[in-house]
Order: sequence, then structure tokens, then C-alpha cells
Amino acid sequence: MSKVYLLLGANIGNKNDTFRRAAFIIESAVGQIIMRSSIYETEPWGFQSDDFFWNQVLVLRTSLPALDILQHIQKTERALGRIRKQSGYESRSIDIDILFYDDQIIDQPDLTVPHPRIQERNFVLAPLNEVAPGLVHPILKKTIGELYRECPDKLNVRKLDIN
Ligand code: ADP
Ligand code: MG
Repeated sequence: MSKVYLLLGANIGNKNDTFRRAAFIIESAVGQIIMRSSIYETEPWGFQSDDFFWNQVLVLRTSLPALDILQHIQKTERALGRIRKQSGYESRSIDIDILFYDDQIIDQPDLTVPHPRIQERNFVLAPLNEVAPGLVHPILKKTIGELYRECPDKLNVRKLDIN
């Protein structure tokens, strides 16, 4: 069995409902959820908006290889109403990324693991640090706790009081 770390993200629609449905679908397709972080909200800045981003980390035990998991999470995104418009940032009802798959390093055209932007963003590191502060990044050779403390990201993330 392997351990996979997933990041859920959403900023439009009923995010609470979307996260619950995503967890349910992923658990039935990929494997048992053994840990889930709190949900974190990223403050929008520079403009007034209700479209706050929500993020949550799920940790699963799985017997599926990473590429199969990618297919399942993309199917889940489509089932939950994600429509891809163009490249770059966009509002999305759901985004599901693979952060880590055991300590494997995967570099394929459609899959990069560890996810290349883990160390740049508080909205990834804050929930990840809650469930796996001692996990060592297999390329950077630092723990999640260290990466979080060193992260230069100034965006505020707030742990929500739900779940
Ligand atoms: P992003 O998550 O970067 O905002 P998308 O969700 O649209 O953008 O993903 C674009 C592509 O990223 C997907 O089609 C997928 O093949 C690729 N990808 C590469 N590495 C990963 C990963 N670790 N997790 C999820 N998708 C990945
Ligand atoms: Mg994605």
C-alpha cells in the first residue's frame, strides 16, 4: 500500500458541499482517507470578493499507482462541475492536486510529483503542516515544518472553524 497526499481547492459554488462530495468520491475510487486537515481559507487581497479560496489536505492509503489516481481525480473534478477555460488562474468549483505519493519523484508530461509549487504557498503548507509536519520533501530534503517556516508567501491563510 502507498500513501498519497491530495490538496483540494475551490473558490466558487458551495465549497462545503463540494469538499464533502469530493472526499466521498475519492475515498470510494482511490482508497481510505486516513487523515484530513482542517479547511483553510485564503484571504483575497487588493480587491473585494466573496470568492475566497478554500483548501484542504487529504491523506489516503491506496493500492493504485499515481497515474491512475490522477485519472480518478480528474474524473472527480469533472463530476463536480469543473470546466477548464484557459490556462492560468481561473475561478474553479474544484481543483484536486497530488502533492506527494510516498517518497516517489515522478516527472512525466502530465504528472509531476512532488507537486512543484508546494514550497511556495501557505495555502498548501498550512494544511499540510497540520497533518504531516515531519514529512520530508524527497527533493528539497526538508520537512514540511521547515518549508512552512521558511516560506516567503505573504498571503494570509485562516483555519476555518468547520468540519
Ligand atoms: P493547476 O492545478 O496547476 O492550477 P490544473 O488543475 O488545470 O492546474 O492542472 C493542469 C494539469 O496539471 C493537469 O492536466 C495534470 O495533468 C497536470 N499535473 C501535473 N502534475 C500534477 C499533480 N501533481 N497533481 C495534479 N495535476 C498535475
Ligand atoms: Mg490541479
